[in-house]
Parts: sequence; C-alpha cells; structure tokens
Amino acid sequence: FSTAAATEEPIVPPVQVNYTQLLIDGQFVDSASGKTFPTFDPRTGEVIANVAEGETEDVNRAVSAARKAFDEGPWPKMTAYERSRILLRCADLVEKHSDELAALETWNCGKPYEQSAKAELPMFVRLFHYYAGWADKIHGLTVPADGPYHVQTLHEPIGVAGQIIPWNFPLIMFAWKVGPALACGNTIVLKTAEQTPLTALYVAKLFQEAGLPPGVLNIISGFGPTAGAAIASHMDVDKVAFRGSTDTGKIVLELAAKSNLKPVTLELGGKSPFIVCEDADVDKAVELAHFALFFNQGQCCCAGSRTYVHERVYDEFIEKAKARAMRRVVGDPFKKGVEQGPQIDPEQFDKVLRYIRYGIESNATLECGGERLGSKGFYVQPTVFSNVQDDMLIAKDEIFGPVQTILKFNDLDDVIKRANTTRYGLAAGVFTKNLNTANTLSRALRAGTVWVNCFDVFDAAIPFGGYKMSGIGREKGIYSLNNYLQVKGIVTPLKNPAW
Ligand code: NAD
Repeated sequence: FSTAAATEEPIVPPVQVNYTQLLIDGQFVDSASGKTFPTFDPRTGEVIANVAEGETEDVNRAVSAARKAFDEGPWPKMTAYERSRILLRCADLVEKHSDELAALETWNCGKPYEQSAKAELPMFVRLFHYYAGWADKIHGLTVPADGPYHVQTLHEPIGVAGQIIPWNFPLIMFAWKVGPALACGNTIVLKTAEQTPLTALYVAKLFQEAGLPPGVLNIISGFGPTAGAAIASHMDVDKVAFRGSTDTGKIVLELAAKSNLKPVTLELGGKSPFIVCEDADVDKAVELAHFALFFNQGQCCCAGSRTYVHERVYDEFIEKAKARAMRRVVGDPFKKGVEQGPQIDPEQFDKVLRYIRYGIESNATLECGGERLGSKGFYVQPTVFSNVQDDMLIAKDEIFGPVQTILKFNDLDDVIKRANTTRYGLAAGVFTKNLNTANTLSRALRAGTVWVNCFDVFDAAIPFGGYKMSGIGREKGIYSLNNYLQVKGIVTPLKNPAW
C-alpha cells in the first residue's frame, strides 16, 4: 500500500480537550452518577479523555432545561431575525475555530485531517448560514376555504427535539440536525455517539458564546441503551430524530411509539448501487466508484457499496479498480496526502474483517487487500472483490468499511431490477454519457438520492434521506424544516355567525 505521498511525520495542529462534561441548561456539569467513560484515538486505541457519562437522570435534567427554554422563552419567542443572527454568529465562531475543531474531529474519529479541515468544517459553516437564512422565512399560508371564513396556517416549532447521532460524521451530523431545529425555534437535547463525543461539546461551547440562550441546546454524551433510549422514550420530548443503523432505528421508533407517540425521523443504513454503463469512460468511472466507496474509510451510510459494471467494460474496470485501490494512501490521518485513516473502533474493525472473510468464503474473487494494515490502531487494507453475486452477504449487508464489491450486468432492465432488490434505498450512482440512460436510471432507482456522474455531493440545500429501510423523512434543504414544525390551522368567520 502506498504511503509515498504522505509526509514523514504527522502534522497535528495544536488542540486540547477542554470540554468533557455534559452541557445542560448552559452549564458544563458532571453526570448525576459521577460516571465517566473513555474516548479513544482510533490511530492507536489510546485514551484521549474521559467524558461524563449521561444516563436517564441527566437526560431528564436536560429535557427539563429544554422544556423551560421552549415554554418560557426566549428562544421560540424571539423574533426570527434575532434567531437568524445568533445562528450566523454560531457559524462564524465555528469558522474561526475550524482548525482546532478539524484536528479534534480527526483525533477522535480517524478521518483524514485534510477532509475534516477542507470539506467538513466548511460544510458545517455553510449549513448554519443556510438555515440562519431560513429562520425568518418560515411562514404559513392563507387558505381559500368554502364559506365565509378567513383561514390561515401558522408554522410553529414542534417543541423539545431529541436528536441522536452517529460517529462517522460527528460534526456534519450535528449540523444537519441542529441547524434546522434551531432555525424553526425548537430547543434540543442531543446525544452524541459514544465513540465521538468531543467536537459537539466544543461547538456547543462556541454556540453559548455566540448568544444561544441556556437550555436551548443541551448535549449528552453517553450510550445508546441508556441515554439514547431515555431520549427516545421521554414523555416530554416532542420529536426525535435519529441517525445510525437500521436495527437501532427500529428500536427508537418503537420507544417513541410506546411513550408519547412523538414523531420520528430516521436516517439509516444503505447498500447503494453505483452503476457503470457500457459507454462510460472507464478511468473516470473507476475513480468515481473508488471515491463513492472508500470515502471516509468506507464509513458512509450512502457509500456506493455495490458497484455494478457493464460486461463490455467489466474486465478493464476490475483491473483499474484494483490498481486504484492499491494506490490508495492509507496511514496516519494527520499526514498530508493520506486518503484513508483507521476504522473508528475495534467493533467496526472486526466487523469489516469478518465481512471480508465472508466474501472469501462465498467465492467472490479477492482482487486486493483483505487484511488489517499494521499492528496498531484499526487500519484495514483497501479491499476489492470481483465476481460478486447479489445473494452474497457482502452484496446485501452494510459492511461500513473499505471493501468494494463489484458485480457484472448486461442490460439496463437487469441492473435496475438488481439494484432495487435490497431492503435499503438511500442513494445510487449512475455513470454514463447517455442522457436517456441517465434519466431512465434516475427515475427507476428506488433511492432518496441519485447522483449522475458525481457522488457524495452534500450541498446544504439538497435533501437527503432514504426509501424503504433506509429511513423516514428528509434532512437538509427546505425539507428538513418540516421535521421540526407543527402546522396549525386558524379559522375565523368573516361575518358574525348566525348563533
Ligand atoms: P448505532 O445505530 O447503534 O448507533 C448510532 C447512535 O444510536 C449512537 O449515538 C448510539 O449511541 C445510539 N443508540 C444505540 N442504541 C440505542 C438505543 N437502544 N436507543 C437509542 N439510541 C441508541 O450504530 P453503531 O453501533 O455505532 O454501528 C453499527 C452499524 O450501524 C455500523 O456498522 C453501520 O453499519 C451502521 N451505521 C450507520 C450509520 C449511518 O450514518 N447510517 C452511522 C453509524 C453506523
């Protein structure tokens, strides 16, 4: 594996861990139990810091604070313009501290520093600018009704929003959830993933400085079955938004239903097809398919994890995809030029290696990779399987790692059917020069996003979400606002009623 482009020594920008407590009602506090848990550096498996462990009692305190901040204000009662200005200040402060935040993100999460600094922090800032822009443009309608009535709708914040996020994009997931919820005037109790608690705490501190009133955003670090479940089942949480695995999404939906029937949005797993058509420029297709799968160590819900290649270009594609994977620069994510860091933790690392074994046992052809890299940390070799069949586990399950599975197809109808034969429906990629083919596939694929001749374009304004078992609802864009609003109809007679 190539490390040629990487600098000799990792360049770690100066960063400290200053915030490890829970943020409740504008104060950093220990957990009620006094318990803490360690958070790790995936490059080495060493402990970075011990973080307060929130459980039910802490969630209760956070929900009370969020309730008070919602019911008594000032947040939902401020003018929308004032809320917008605070959100802009939040974004500006994050931008100012981008280097430290990017370093902390990479340290806790293992993703290449250049990715954190050049893509994810700017995306975070852009998203808050986008939703700050929405805050004073959220309004209802005047509705033409039968009869002598003046009818209008009010779009009101839903109340206390519970939010549960995963570890693969800690800051981006925070932004996708918190941005629209705050723009609409809600208050929040957010639980970070147990693997990656650090950047959300830092950002929340900056948000306090930016003027976000106490109790509007509360951050709980902790585990799913305790803190996460306490949020999902809380009687005073008005809405829950979850992102993570499909199995956990089902639990969250059930907890919401069994408590107060709070509305739920879910962003779950995927097994997204990436379809390379017969007219494709193979070099470009290889590069994009490689990016679609390997980006973020393969830890993307929308990863293009079933690469369907037309039989006419299949052999050339395999050879070049293998060569590209073998050129992938894997190493310390703080080194310049590194494209791939470690997997997040031992569980994910073991899971990826287990799926590679399943691939070998099921007689897919292992073209390259297949093993761990080095003896320290959770690095996995970029791995490519060809001759993959649709019924193999590696073609059906979300591996969530740097494992490309390549399947052959021979006509469009065949590939449409096969691409859609999955319980998931998060995203799809299409690579073709033919507009008719692009349009036909885009319409036929049952997925929340179809990227044509591009992949992983995550503009703040573009909706994102899943069909089928990939989720319920959409995030980003105008669509996300609906997740955080109630609609009230107000009916007034135009003349005195007869009674
Ligand atoms: P997970 O779904 O268990 O965790 C995601 C979040 O849910 C975390 O904050 C976790 O603490 C919380 N959670 C866990 N159990 C909960 C419960 N009972 N009630 C409420 N919240 C709960 O995912 P994981 O265990 O970190 O990873 C397992 C697999 O999930 C991965 O291998 C991958 O396939 C998938 N995954 C998908 C995404 C995504 O963006 N779609 C992100 C992370 C993981």
